[in-house]
Amino acid sequence: MMDEIIISGLKIFAWHGVYEEEQEKGQNFVINAKLFLDTSASGDSDSLDDTVDYGKVCLFINDFMRVSRYNTLEALVNNLARKIMIKFPLSQSIELEIQKPEAPIPLPFETVSVKIKRSWHKAYIATGSNMGDSEEFIKNALENLDADENCRVLRTSKMYHSRAYGGVEQDNFCNSVFCMETLYSPIELLTRLQQEEREAGRERLIKWGPRTLDLDILYYDDIIMEREHLRIPHRDMSNRDFVLLPLSEIAPYKRHPILGLTTLEMLGRVKETYVLTMKEEE
Ligand code: ATP
Ligand code: CA
Ligand code: CA
Repeated sequence: MMDEIIISGLKIFAWHGVYEEEQEKGQNFVINAKLFLDTSASGDSDSLDDTVDYGKVCLFINDFMRVSRYNTLEALVNNLARKIMIKFPLSQSIELEIQKPEAPIPLPFETVSVKIKRSWHKAYIATGSNMGDSEEFIKNALENLDADENCRVLRTSKMYHSRAYGGVEQDNFCNSVFCMETLYSPIELLTRLQQEEREAGRERLIKWGPRTLDLDILYYDDIIMEREHLRIPHRDMSNRDFVLLPLSEIAPYKRHPILGLTTLEMLGRVKETYVLTMKEEE
């Protein structure tokens, strides 16, 4: 259960809209925002540093809305919500509504609005590499993702050396698992991870063949999804000690949302061993 900071009826004059008149003359917008966070720290300390300063949020919304130009309320509200989450990192979720009470509609009406909810989501990612400087490829990807304002890497496991899975004769792998918070949707996250794979020079030649970098989504919150190009949880993770062993370092008791088993329980049931050694941190 999260606490809420509520801003209602914030009025801002700005220039968003598809019509020329809206873009030239501007109009009033009304903003309602609900920020979800844990306020107990500042409840104890009585310090503004431990919470989200609603005054600053209002000023930030005002600046954003007056500087940017969007055709649709949808794009405006989406981008603004994302920016608020990034700028005020203590907020876990936001409900944001932007109303346009003076929208050019030739009928009497009170207001029109678009309202959305956005959150930081928790994702667990498995990494693998057995070509080139494997550890460097993995480290690099982690740095790039952490530098992306839509992602924040929280915890990383140690690096493991393991023999190849799937029967193709090839070099041993480096594997690790990390956990991050992200504003990306599952599909957006997959696309973002594939971008990292491409930048590491990944080519898909043979199934389960050698690769510079492989990034698989294990979990995304507790969602279960099955699309042609994306299945979450990863469909084969419970058979892979080179995934479960690193995962057990950072999430030993997390339960698989379909199997109902914790990481340690799944690890105890794995039939074949692939992990050779764990690499100690330098
Ligand atoms: P495996 O998925 O068995 O570990 P792989 O990683 O070698 O095999 P890839 O060639 O990297 O397989 O990916 C094949 C496709 O798997 C990707 O194009 C992607 O669309 C799809 N895919 C489905 N679910 C996931 C997931 N949870 N994480 C990453 N990719 C996924
Ligand atoms: Ca894989
Ligand atoms: Ca993959």
